[in-house]
Amino acid sequence: MRYAIGIDLGGTNLKGGLVDETGQVIFKETRASPAERNLPGPIVEALINLATDLRERARGNGIEPEGFGFGPPNFIEGPDWIQRQANNMPGLNDVALRPPLAAALGENIAIDNDVMNASLAEYHFGQGRGYERMLLMAIGTGIATGIFTEGGRRLRYIFGWTGDTGHIIVDPHGRLCTCGGRGCLETVATGPAIRAFALDAARTQKSPALAARLAESGDLEARDVTEAALSGDAAARQIWDEVGWYLGMALTSYVHIFAPQIILIGGGIAEAGELLLEPIRRTLASLGSPFYLGLLRGVKKAALGADAGFIGAGALILLPESLR
Ligand SMILES: [Zn+2]
Repeated sequence: MRYAIGIDLGGTNLKGGLVDETGQVIFKETRASPAERNLPGPIVEALINLATDLRERARGNGIEPEGFGFGPPNFIEGPDWIQRQANNMPGLNDVALRPPLAAALGENIAIDNDVMNASLAEYHFGQGRGYERMLLMAIGTGIATGIFTEGGRRLRYIFGWTGDTGHIIVDPHGRLCTCGGRGCLETVATGPAIRAFALDAARTQKSPALAARLAESGDLEARDVTEAALSGDAAARQIWDEVGWYLGMALTSYVHIFAPQIILIGGGIAEAGELLLEPIRRTLASLGSPFYLGLLRGVKKAALGADAGFIGAGALILLPESLR
């Protein structure tokens, strides 16, 4: 069996683990990302510390990892892995990440964008197994998508990535988006958007369950909307119906363009499960082309959850080049 260490680098947490060539996690660890997000030094140091600690732990188990894979939430440019658009980690903007990592960890290191890694893991080890064309949409603070095309190749259209799928327009008369556009999917279907819907439903007393939760905790998040909906609160269920409607609208367009055989919903928001998946399926059925819908065999929750990013990062080392 072959092993590698994968590390997923997020604005909140660093998640890493030892994975084998079948995608099994031998052990894993989560650490808080450095508080100083405006300086590259502490971020690079935290990455190297986690990588070397995980390697020591592997050696303690009699395993020598072949290398290290990384997944930052940024665009990555050129052989020195220059980080672009590092909005959650401004300290990494324009930083060449490969030289310090190679100096500390050796030459067998690899990198890809976090959502590309998550989609790689789901495609080979998760819910994407057995399909050729797969679309994974990860929904959290933002929205990003990894797409596998015919022949099992990942779609890399711009910056080694799919393109900014969270900014397709779904509400032309809607709110201004952080990107400068108007009515983007991200204005109505991300964690912050769901929080805003929930606060509104609580403050206007449309949702007794969310109003009670707000009085108790002082704030609301997507998980509260799920709990309220499961307890029978109609307004909370209505929020998931609306979010599912917008996601379904965007996904219908992606189905017409990319013709996936399977759609996977990942990221923290996917924890809502059927509350979210059911309105997405309903919207696809009502808006989509029967031809393209006929090629789609399912809309499911991604299987690997928060581990997908570091499993995919490890897979960058373990999978043959033709599959990455
Ligand atoms: Zn936008």
